[in-house]
Amino acid sequence: MAPNIPEKQWAQVIEKTGGPIDYKEIPVPKPGPDEVLINIKFSGVCHTDLHAWKGDWPLPTKLPLVGGHEGAGVVVARGDLVKDIEIGDHAGIKWLNGSCLQCSFCQTADEPLCPSPILSGYTVDGSFQQYAIGKAAHVARIPKDVPLDAISPILCAGITVYKGLKESGARPGETVAIVGAGGGLGSLACQYAKAMGLQVIAIDTGDDKKKMLEGELGVKAFIDFAKTKDVVQDVQEQTEDKTGPNAVLVVAVNEGPFQQAMDYVRPRGTVVAIGLPANAFLKAPVFQTVTQMKTIKGSYVGNRKDTQEAIEFFRRGLIKAPFKTVGLSELSKVYELMEQGQIAGRYIVDTSK
Ligand code: NAD
Ligand code: ZN
Repeated sequence: MAPNIPEKQWAQVIEKTGGPIDYKEIPVPKPGPDEVLINIKFSGVCHTDLHAWKGDWPLPTKLPLVGGHEGAGVVVARGDLVKDIEIGDHAGIKWLNGSCLQCSFCQTADEPLCPSPILSGYTVDGSFQQYAIGKAAHVARIPKDVPLDAISPILCAGITVYKGLKESGARPGETVAIVGAGGGLGSLACQYAKAMGLQVIAIDTGDDKKKMLEGELGVKAFIDFAKTKDVVQDVQEQTEDKTGPNAVLVVAVNEGPFQQAMDYVRPRGTVVAIGLPANAFLKAPVFQTVTQMKTIKGSYVGNRKDTQEAIEFFRRGLIKAPFKTVGLSELSKVYELMEQGQIAGRYIVDTSK
């Protein structure tokens, strides 16, 4: 039986960058020939959504805008060209909503680098609404034995940190430092790193995050950057021969820790920049970078294969990161807490409330 799709739905709408976010009823969109319509049940709230609302990146958003790009739900309609997704399948809206599939990047499965990407909750409306559209080639396929609430943060945070860990080149048994470990990306990074056989040094601040990281996330060591006198020394102390971690994933949202990471990463190690603080620069001394053969690189979400792999880690029960659920109507409160750095793990919104 075809699902009953309403004409109207609830959504969080930004009319003006940095302006009020209105929880209101808007029309349910209709999918184009190569698209599916997903009845979003839950959506994670990523710090990127906060950047989009504030407009602090050098890339304009569409306006009015419905944010959100960690949306998990059920396919309720599909365009005529879509043959490989059925009505009733579970699927997810991720950051990369679509790409051209023809450029040299798309051809080599580097679709996040496509020069004409479609970005959910940024250049097209995203998952902070009850019905969202995704390009069929790109929507995440979610197995039915996976809960739609817990999987939602995997659709951006999980994929991104899983890809970042692969890009870091760290091998099982080695040590990785996660900077911003108590946040949404960071808490998942700790879990993926452990599942990939890595030892984790977690860097963040506050007792809630310390408790979560040392407790349920089971990291090897926690360093509170606001309490320690010398982050560099503390991080290096935690490694076997005191020369520093093999890799660092920086998912924090300010500039300082990006530069600091180059001071404590082990010679021949790699600093992977993932967080996207506004107006920030990467800077490292040329002398030490050369003579210690250190690498700095960026890592940006993941391709469709990374998406399926990240979901499969979750399905196998290897990824358990804490999340809190609130109603979609309470999105602004989540932004406030996020701005204050008060969120340990991820908040997700339930679109039925
Ligand atoms: P979040 O707000 O949940 O987490 C950020 C964490 O960083 C917080 O726990 C905060 O306490 C911590 N932090 C702040 N200053 C720190 C410091 N000096 N040292 C260590 N930790 C510090 O944010 P999130 O949703 O995890 O997103 C993080 C960033 O990653 C955002 O800028 C987001 O836009 C970006 N992002 C990038 C990609 C990508 O593909 N590269 C994908 C998704 C998100
Ligand atoms: Zn995101």
